[in-house]
Amino acid sequence: MLLASVLWTAGLATYLPSRAVASGSNQLPIAFAARIVGDSTRGRLIVDFDQAIDHEVHLMDAPMRIVIDMSQSIFNLGQDSKFLPRSLISKFRYGYIDDGRSRIILELKEAASIVGHRLKTVDSGKRFRLFIDFTATSEENFAKLILKKREVEPKNVVRNRAKTRRRFTIVLDPGHGGIDGGASGAKNTIEKSITFDFAKRLKTLLSKNKNFDVILTRNDDVFLGLANRLKIAREAKADLFLSIHADSLAQKQIRGATVYSLSEEGTDDISRLLARKQNRTDLIAGLQLPDSKPRIFDILIDMTRRETEVFSKQFANILVGRLKEDIRLIRNPHRAADFYVLKAPEVPSILLELGYLSNVEDEQLMRSKKWQTLAVQRTYDAIVAFFDIRLARK
Ligand SMILES: [Zn+2]
Repeated sequence: MLLASVLWTAGLATYLPSRAVASGSNQLPIAFAARIVGDSTRGRLIVDFDQAIDHEVHLMDAPMRIVIDMSQSIFNLGQDSKFLPRSLISKFRYGYIDDGRSRIILELKEAASIVGHRLKTVDSGKRFRLFIDFTATSEENFAKLILKKREVEPKNVVRNRAKTRRRFTIVLDPGHGGIDGGASGAKNTIEKSITFDFAKRLKTLLSKNKNFDVILTRNDDVFLGLANRLKIAREAKADLFLSIHADSLAQKQIRGATVYSLSEEGTDDISRLLARKQNRTDLIAGLQLPDSKPRIFDILIDMTRRETEVFSKQFANILVGRLKEDIRLIRNPHRAADFYVLKAPEVPSILLELGYLSNVEDEQLMRSKKWQTLAVQRTYDAIVAFFDIRLARK
Protein backbone atom coordinates (compact mmCIF):
# COMPACT_ATOMS: atom_id res chain seq x y z
CA MET A 1 0.00 0.00 0.00
CA LEU A 2 2.75 2.41 0.96
CA LEU A 3 4.75 1.77 -2.17
CA ALA A 4 1.69 2.13 -4.32
CA SER A 5 0.66 5.43 -2.86
CA VAL A 6 4.17 6.71 -3.24
CA LEU A 7 4.15 5.83 -6.93
CA TRP A 8 0.79 7.34 -7.20
CA THR A 9 1.70 10.62 -5.74
CA ALA A 10 4.82 10.74 -7.79
CA GLY A 11 2.94 10.11 -10.96
CA LEU A 12 0.36 12.72 -10.29
CA ALA A 13 2.79 15.28 -9.04
CA THR A 14 4.18 15.63 -12.52
CA TYR A 15 1.01 17.19 -13.81
CA LEU A 16 -1.19 18.20 -10.93
CA PRO A 17 -1.35 21.95 -11.09
CA SER A 18 -0.37 23.99 -8.10
CA ARG A 19 -3.30 25.91 -6.71
CA ALA A 20 -2.13 29.19 -8.08
CA VAL A 21 -1.99 28.18 -11.71
CA ALA A 22 -4.94 25.86 -11.85
CA SER A 23 -7.69 28.39 -12.44
CA GLY A 24 -8.78 28.60 -16.00
CA SER A 25 -7.06 25.38 -17.01
CA ASN A 26 -9.04 22.43 -18.24
CA GLN A 27 -7.97 20.30 -15.29
CA LEU A 28 -10.59 18.98 -12.93
CA PRO A 29 -11.28 21.12 -9.87
CA ILE A 30 -9.35 19.98 -6.81
CA ALA A 31 -10.87 19.97 -3.35
CA PHE A 32 -7.77 20.52 -1.23
CA ALA A 33 -9.16 21.29 2.22
CA ALA A 34 -12.33 20.53 4.12
CA ARG A 35 -13.64 20.79 7.63
CA ILE A 36 -16.77 20.32 9.61
CA VAL A 37 -17.56 22.72 12.44
CA GLY A 38 -20.47 23.08 14.81
CA ASP A 39 -22.16 21.38 17.73
CA SER A 40 -25.12 19.13 18.39
CA THR A 41 -27.65 21.76 17.28
CA ARG A 42 -26.11 23.06 14.06
CA GLY A 43 -23.11 22.69 11.84
CA ARG A 44 -21.26 23.76 8.74
CA LEU A 45 -19.25 21.94 6.11
CA ILE A 46 -16.53 23.99 4.43
CA VAL A 47 -14.67 22.73 1.36
CA ASP A 48 -11.97 24.68 -0.51
CA PHE A 49 -11.55 24.25 -4.26
CA ASP A 50 -8.98 25.62 -6.66
CA GLN A 51 -11.65 26.29 -9.28
CA ALA A 52 -15.32 27.19 -9.23
CA ILE A 53 -17.72 24.26 -9.14
CA ASP A 54 -21.46 24.01 -9.44
CA HIS A 55 -23.35 22.18 -6.74
CA GLU A 56 -26.73 20.98 -5.54
CA VAL A 57 -27.62 19.96 -2.00
CA HIS A 58 -30.36 17.62 -0.90
CA LEU A 59 -31.52 15.41 1.92
CA MET A 60 -31.87 11.66 1.66
CA ASP A 61 -33.29 9.17 4.13
CA ALA A 62 -32.54 5.59 5.18
CA PRO A 63 -29.98 6.45 6.43
CA MET A 64 -30.55 10.16 6.99
CA ARG A 65 -27.95 12.14 5.09
CA ILE A 66 -27.06 15.36 3.35
CA VAL A 67 -25.90 14.82 -0.21
CA ILE A 68 -23.92 17.41 -2.14
CA ASP A 69 -23.64 16.79 -5.88
CA MET A 70 -21.08 18.84 -7.75
CA SER A 71 -18.94 19.13 -10.84
CA GLN A 72 -16.49 16.26 -11.11
CA SER A 73 -13.65 17.05 -8.75
CA ILE A 74 -10.52 15.47 -7.37
CA PHE A 75 -10.48 15.15 -3.60
CA ASN A 76 -7.07 15.76 -2.11
CA LEU A 77 -8.21 16.05 1.46
CA GLY A 78 -5.45 13.89 2.82
CA GLN A 79 -5.74 13.15 6.48
CA ASP A 80 -6.78 16.63 7.49
CA SER A 81 -7.78 16.27 11.10
CA LYS A 82 -10.29 19.07 10.78
CA PHE A 83 -12.30 17.01 8.34
CA LEU A 84 -13.58 14.46 10.80
CA PRO A 85 -17.16 13.59 11.62
CA ARG A 86 -18.43 16.00 14.22
CA SER A 87 -21.42 18.20 14.96
CA LEU A 88 -24.50 16.42 13.56
CA ILE A 89 -22.41 14.34 11.18
CA SER A 90 -21.58 10.74 12.05
CA LYS A 91 -19.79 9.71 8.86
CA PHE A 92 -18.91 11.05 5.46
CA ARG A 93 -17.79 9.83 2.09
CA TYR A 94 -16.85 11.57 -1.11
CA GLY A 95 -15.85 10.76 -4.65
CA TYR A 96 -16.76 10.41 -8.28
CA ILE A 97 -20.19 9.01 -9.02
CA ASP A 98 -20.90 9.04 -12.72
CA ASP A 99 -21.61 11.25 -15.64
CA GLY A 100 -19.03 13.87 -14.78
CA ARG A 101 -20.29 14.38 -11.24
CA SER A 102 -18.76 14.03 -7.82
CA ARG A 103 -20.59 13.72 -4.54
CA ILE A 104 -20.04 14.34 -0.84
CA ILE A 105 -22.28 12.37 1.49
CA LEU A 106 -22.68 13.45 5.12
CA GLU A 107 -24.45 10.86 7.24
CA LEU A 108 -26.50 12.40 10.01
CA LYS A 109 -26.53 11.37 13.67
CA GLU A 110 -30.00 12.81 13.93
CA ALA A 111 -32.50 14.65 11.79
CA ALA A 112 -31.25 17.89 10.26
CA SER A 113 -32.32 20.38 7.64
CA ILE A 114 -30.24 22.44 5.23
CA VAL A 115 -30.39 26.11 6.06
CA GLY A 116 -28.05 27.44 3.41
CA HIS A 117 -25.37 26.68 0.87
CA ARG A 118 -23.16 28.84 -1.29
CA LEU A 119 -19.85 29.01 -3.11
CA LYS A 120 -17.76 32.04 -2.24
CA THR A 121 -14.67 33.39 -3.95
CA VAL A 122 -11.82 33.78 -1.46
CA ASP A 123 -8.18 34.80 -1.59
CA SER A 124 -8.77 37.32 -4.42
CA GLY A 125 -10.36 34.74 -6.68
CA LYS A 126 -7.62 32.15 -6.29
CA ARG A 127 -9.80 29.80 -4.33
CA PHE A 128 -13.45 28.93 -4.00
CA ARG A 129 -15.06 27.97 -0.72
CA LEU A 130 -18.21 25.92 -0.50
CA PHE A 131 -20.36 26.37 2.61
CA ILE A 132 -23.15 24.00 3.57
CA ASP A 133 -25.08 24.99 6.71
CA PHE A 134 -27.39 22.65 8.51
CA THR A 135 -29.33 22.60 11.72
CA ALA A 136 -30.99 19.98 13.92
CA THR A 137 -34.65 19.44 13.29
CA SER A 138 -37.39 17.05 14.37
CA GLU A 139 -37.78 13.65 12.74
CA GLU A 140 -41.25 14.74 11.61
CA ASN A 141 -39.89 17.77 9.86
CA PHE A 142 -37.12 15.72 8.24
CA ALA A 143 -39.74 13.28 6.93
CA LYS A 144 -41.72 16.22 5.55
CA LEU A 145 -38.67 17.63 3.79
CA ILE A 146 -37.97 14.26 2.21
CA LEU A 147 -41.59 14.00 1.04
CA LYS A 148 -41.47 17.48 -0.42
CA LYS A 149 -38.26 16.64 -2.23
CA ARG A 150 -39.86 13.53 -3.75
CA GLU A 151 -42.72 15.61 -5.10
CA VAL A 152 -40.46 18.02 -6.93
CA GLU A 153 -37.79 15.51 -7.83
CA PRO A 154 -39.21 13.89 -10.96
CA LYS A 155 -39.15 17.21 -12.77
CA ASN A 156 -35.64 18.00 -11.60
CA VAL A 157 -34.36 14.59 -12.53
CA VAL A 158 -35.60 14.99 -16.08
CA ARG A 159 -34.15 18.46 -16.32
CA ASN A 160 -30.80 17.35 -14.95
CA ARG A 161 -30.66 14.42 -17.28
CA ALA A 162 -31.28 16.61 -20.25
CA LYS A 163 -28.63 18.98 -19.04
CA THR A 164 -25.96 16.42 -18.28
CA ARG A 165 -26.67 14.01 -21.09
CA ARG A 166 -23.53 13.73 -23.10
CA ARG A 167 -21.54 11.38 -25.22
CA PHE A 168 -19.02 9.06 -23.65
CA THR A 169 -15.39 9.88 -24.24
CA ILE A 170 -13.11 6.97 -24.96
CA VAL A 171 -9.36 7.36 -25.03
CA LEU A 172 -7.50 4.69 -26.97
CA ASP A 173 -3.82 4.42 -26.21
CA PRO A 174 -1.70 2.62 -28.82
CA GLY A 175 1.33 1.41 -26.87
CA HIS A 176 4.85 2.63 -27.71
CA GLY A 177 5.69 4.77 -30.77
CA GLY A 178 8.54 6.68 -32.37
CA ILE A 179 11.95 5.60 -31.04
CA ASP A 180 10.20 3.14 -28.76
CA GLY A 181 9.11 0.32 -31.03
CA GLY A 182 8.02 -1.94 -28.21
CA ALA A 183 8.36 -5.69 -28.71
CA SER A 184 9.19 -7.32 -32.03
CA GLY A 185 8.38 -10.77 -33.35
CA ALA A 186 10.33 -13.44 -35.18
CA LYS A 187 8.87 -12.13 -38.45
CA ASN A 188 9.92 -8.58 -37.53
CA THR A 189 6.45 -7.46 -36.59
CA ILE A 190 6.82 -4.30 -34.52
CA GLU A 191 4.52 -3.81 -31.54
CA LYS A 192 4.05 -0.06 -32.06
CA SER A 193 2.54 -0.70 -35.52
CA ILE A 194 0.22 -3.49 -34.35
CA THR A 195 -1.11 -1.33 -31.52
CA PHE A 196 -1.49 1.74 -33.69
CA ASP A 197 -3.35 -0.07 -36.49
CA PHE A 198 -5.66 -1.68 -33.98
CA ALA A 199 -6.41 1.64 -32.24
CA LYS A 200 -7.06 3.40 -35.56
CA ARG A 201 -9.48 0.73 -36.73
CA LEU A 202 -11.26 0.67 -33.40
CA LYS A 203 -11.54 4.45 -33.50
CA THR A 204 -13.09 4.32 -36.96
CA LEU A 205 -15.69 1.84 -35.76
CA LEU A 206 -16.47 3.69 -32.52
CA SER A 207 -16.75 7.03 -34.31
CA LYS A 208 -19.71 5.71 -36.29
CA ASN A 209 -21.61 5.31 -33.03
CA LYS A 210 -23.22 8.58 -31.95
CA ASN A 211 -22.69 7.77 -28.25
CA PHE A 212 -18.93 8.03 -28.44
CA ASP A 213 -16.21 10.60 -28.82
CA VAL A 214 -12.90 8.91 -29.44
CA ILE A 215 -9.43 10.25 -28.83
CA LEU A 216 -6.13 8.57 -29.64
CA THR A 217 -3.22 9.37 -27.33
CA ARG A 218 -0.99 9.44 -30.39
CA ASN A 219 -2.07 10.04 -33.98
CA ASP A 220 1.28 9.24 -35.46
CA ASP A 221 4.37 7.16 -35.05
CA VAL A 222 5.72 9.36 -32.27
CA PHE A 223 7.10 8.68 -28.84
CA LEU A 224 4.79 9.55 -25.96
CA GLY A 225 5.74 9.23 -22.29
CA LEU A 226 3.51 7.32 -19.90
CA ALA A 227 2.59 10.40 -17.86
CA ASN A 228 1.39 12.14 -21.01
CA ARG A 229 -0.82 9.22 -21.98
CA LEU A 230 -2.46 9.37 -18.60
CA LYS A 231 -2.74 13.14 -18.76
CA ILE A 232 -4.59 12.97 -22.07
CA ALA A 233 -7.17 10.63 -20.54
CA ARG A 234 -7.66 12.85 -17.51
CA GLU A 235 -7.87 16.10 -19.43
CA ALA A 236 -10.41 14.59 -21.80
CA LYS A 237 -12.38 13.47 -18.74
CA ALA A 238 -12.45 10.08 -20.37
CA ASP A 239 -15.14 7.59 -19.46
CA LEU A 240 -12.86 4.78 -20.52
CA PHE A 241 -9.15 4.47 -21.18
CA LEU A 242 -7.92 1.51 -23.17
CA SER A 243 -4.19 0.98 -23.58
CA ILE A 244 -3.24 -1.45 -26.32
CA HIS A 245 -0.13 -3.62 -26.40
CA ALA A 246 1.38 -6.76 -27.89
CA ASP A 247 4.40 -7.28 -25.69
CA SER A 248 7.02 -10.01 -25.41
CA LEU A 249 7.42 -12.51 -22.63
CA ALA A 250 10.49 -14.54 -21.72
CA GLN A 251 8.29 -17.65 -21.85
CA LYS A 252 7.82 -17.94 -25.59
CA GLN A 253 5.16 -20.63 -25.30
CA ILE A 254 2.73 -18.30 -23.53
CA ARG A 255 0.15 -16.81 -25.85
CA GLY A 256 -3.30 -15.32 -26.06
CA ALA A 257 -4.96 -11.97 -25.48
CA THR A 258 -4.88 -10.73 -21.87
CA VAL A 259 -6.97 -8.02 -20.22
CA TYR A 260 -5.16 -6.18 -17.43
CA SER A 261 -6.66 -4.02 -14.75
CA LEU A 262 -4.75 -2.19 -12.04
CA SER A 263 -3.66 -3.78 -8.81
CA GLU A 264 -0.82 -2.91 -6.50
CA GLU A 265 0.21 -6.48 -5.90
CA GLY A 266 -0.33 -8.07 -9.30
CA THR A 267 -2.08 -11.38 -9.85
CA ASP A 268 1.00 -13.37 -10.92
CA ASP A 269 4.70 -13.11 -11.74
CA ILE A 270 4.19 -12.65 -15.48
CA SER A 271 1.85 -9.72 -14.90
CA ARG A 272 4.15 -8.15 -12.34
CA LEU A 273 7.16 -8.39 -14.66
CA LEU A 274 5.21 -7.02 -17.59
CA ALA A 275 4.07 -4.00 -15.59
CA ARG A 276 7.56 -3.37 -14.23
CA LYS A 277 8.98 -3.48 -17.75
CA GLN A 278 6.29 -1.22 -19.13
CA ASN A 279 6.62 1.30 -16.33
CA ARG A 280 10.25 1.78 -17.39
CA THR A 281 9.62 2.44 -21.08
CA ASP A 282 10.13 6.18 -20.63
CA LEU A 283 13.83 5.43 -20.13
CA ILE A 284 14.05 4.45 -23.79
CA ALA A 285 13.45 8.05 -24.77
CA GLY A 286 15.87 9.31 -22.18
CA LEU A 287 13.07 10.58 -19.99
CA GLN A 288 13.43 10.27 -16.27
CA LEU A 289 11.21 7.90 -14.44
CA PRO A 290 8.66 9.61 -12.22
CA ASP A 291 10.12 10.82 -8.96
CA SER A 292 9.28 8.36 -6.24
CA LYS A 293 9.08 10.92 -3.44
CA PRO A 294 5.64 12.21 -2.55
CA ARG A 295 5.17 15.89 -3.30
CA ILE A 296 2.50 18.55 -3.34
CA PHE A 297 -0.41 16.35 -2.33
CA ASP A 298 -0.98 13.23 -0.40
CA ILE A 299 -3.38 11.52 -2.76
CA LEU A 300 -6.24 9.91 -0.93
CA ILE A 301 -9.08 9.74 -3.33
CA ASP A 302 -10.39 6.56 -1.88
CA MET A 303 -13.98 6.57 -2.92
CA THR A 304 -13.22 7.75 -6.43
CA ARG A 305 -10.55 5.12 -6.82
CA ARG A 306 -12.80 2.40 -5.52
CA GLU A 307 -15.55 3.33 -7.93
CA THR A 308 -13.15 3.61 -10.83
CA GLU A 309 -11.82 0.19 -9.92
CA VAL A 310 -15.31 -1.28 -9.98
CA PHE A 311 -15.93 0.14 -13.46
CA SER A 312 -12.54 -1.02 -14.68
CA LYS A 313 -13.10 -4.56 -13.51
CA GLN A 314 -16.59 -4.58 -14.93
CA PHE A 315 -15.24 -3.54 -18.31
CA ALA A 316 -12.42 -6.09 -18.09
CA ASN A 317 -14.93 -8.88 -17.52
CA ILE A 318 -17.13 -7.75 -20.39
CA LEU A 319 -14.09 -7.47 -22.67
CA VAL A 320 -12.92 -10.98 -21.79
CA GLY A 321 -16.44 -12.28 -22.46
CA ARG A 322 -16.65 -10.67 -25.90
CA LEU A 323 -13.10 -11.43 -27.00
CA LYS A 324 -13.37 -15.11 -26.20
CA GLU A 325 -16.09 -15.51 -28.83
CA ASP A 326 -13.41 -15.26 -31.54
CA ILE A 327 -10.03 -14.48 -30.06
CA ARG A 328 -7.65 -16.86 -28.40
CA LEU A 329 -7.08 -15.87 -24.78
CA ILE A 330 -4.38 -16.67 -22.27
CA ARG A 331 -5.29 -18.89 -19.32
CA ASN A 332 -6.97 -16.68 -16.65
CA PRO A 333 -7.36 -13.84 -19.15
CA HIS A 334 -8.36 -11.14 -16.66
CA ARG A 335 -5.19 -10.30 -14.81
CA ALA A 336 -3.98 -7.33 -12.84
CA ALA A 337 -0.71 -5.57 -12.15
CA ASP A 338 0.68 -2.22 -11.14
CA PHE A 339 0.68 -0.51 -14.55
CA TYR A 340 1.48 3.18 -14.26
CA VAL A 341 -0.67 4.03 -17.27
CA LEU A 342 -3.83 2.68 -15.57
CA LYS A 343 -3.58 5.01 -12.59
CA ALA A 344 -5.91 7.90 -13.42
CA PRO A 345 -8.07 8.00 -10.30
CA GLU A 346 -11.33 8.89 -12.00
CA VAL A 347 -10.94 7.12 -15.35
CA PRO A 348 -11.83 3.42 -15.69
CA SER A 349 -8.68 2.05 -17.31
CA ILE A 350 -7.72 -1.24 -18.88
CA LEU A 351 -4.66 -2.51 -20.70
CA LEU A 352 -5.25 -5.01 -23.47
CA GLU A 353 -2.44 -7.27 -24.60
CA LEU A 354 -3.70 -8.39 -27.99
CA GLY A 355 -1.25 -11.27 -27.87
CA TYR A 356 2.47 -11.73 -27.33
CA LEU A 357 4.96 -11.10 -30.10
CA SER A 358 7.31 -13.52 -28.37
CA ASN A 359 4.98 -16.31 -29.46
CA VAL A 360 5.20 -17.30 -33.14
CA GLU A 361 1.54 -18.30 -33.47
CA ASP A 362 0.36 -15.10 -31.80
CA GLU A 363 2.52 -13.05 -34.14
CA GLN A 364 1.08 -14.89 -37.11
CA LEU A 365 -2.47 -14.22 -35.90
CA MET A 366 -1.91 -10.56 -35.16
CA ARG A 367 -0.59 -10.09 -38.69
CA SER A 368 -3.72 -11.56 -40.24
CA LYS A 369 -6.44 -9.20 -41.48
CA LYS A 370 -9.16 -11.61 -40.42
CA TRP A 371 -7.92 -11.75 -36.84
CA GLN A 372 -7.52 -7.97 -36.73
CA THR A 373 -11.09 -7.41 -37.91
CA LEU A 374 -12.47 -9.80 -35.32
CA ALA A 375 -10.38 -8.40 -32.47
CA VAL A 376 -11.47 -4.84 -33.29
CA GLN A 377 -15.10 -5.90 -33.62
CA ARG A 378 -15.20 -7.79 -30.31
CA THR A 379 -13.50 -4.94 -28.46
CA TYR A 380 -16.05 -2.58 -29.96
CA ASP A 381 -18.88 -4.89 -28.82
CA ALA A 382 -17.48 -4.89 -25.30
CA ILE A 383 -17.32 -1.08 -25.19
CA VAL A 384 -20.91 -0.82 -26.39
CA ALA A 385 -22.06 -3.40 -23.82
CA PHE A 386 -20.20 -1.61 -21.02
CA PHE A 387 -21.83 1.74 -21.78
CA ASP A 388 -25.25 0.19 -22.33
CA ILE A 389 -25.20 -0.62 -18.63
CA ARG A 390 -24.22 2.95 -17.78
CA LEU A 391 -26.89 4.41 -20.05
CA ALA A 392 -29.54 2.22 -18.49
CA ARG A 393 -28.66 3.59 -15.06
CA LYS A 394 -29.05 7.23 -15.99
ZN1 LIG B 1 3.91 -2.87 -25.03
